[in-house]
Amino acid sequence: MKCICCNKKIELVMEDDRAKQEEIVFSTEKNKKADCQMWLDGIVANTYCGYGSSYDGAQLVMAICDNCIESRLESGHIAYIGHSFIPEFNVSIEHRRNWRRINNLDELI
Ligand SMILES: [Zn+2]
Repeated sequence: MKCICCNKKIELVMEDDRAKQEEIVFSTEKNKKADCQMWLDGIVANTYCGYGSSYDGAQLVMAICDNCIESRLESGHIAYIGHSFIPEFNVSIEHRRNWRRINNLDELI
């Protein structure tokens, strides 16, 4: 998969077989989906489109590299809502402030 922001290639950590990668990206089986795998220097995530989107009901797979995650967290384009297995990595005031800035104040500038 390639990063949706910068086009950097994000590959499976344990697998360099492209056919295997395609099988994982297009998998709909619970534990074989892309977001259950280990990816190098980024994430490949399954997402589901809710009501209101013209893609309502669609399941998508997207990739974003670690550098773009970091810059989009700083700019407020991505919201950090906590860590899935280290509870003490809570939402920082800075992350929340960045999110507020771009989502609430941009129209005032
Ligand atoms: Zn990127």
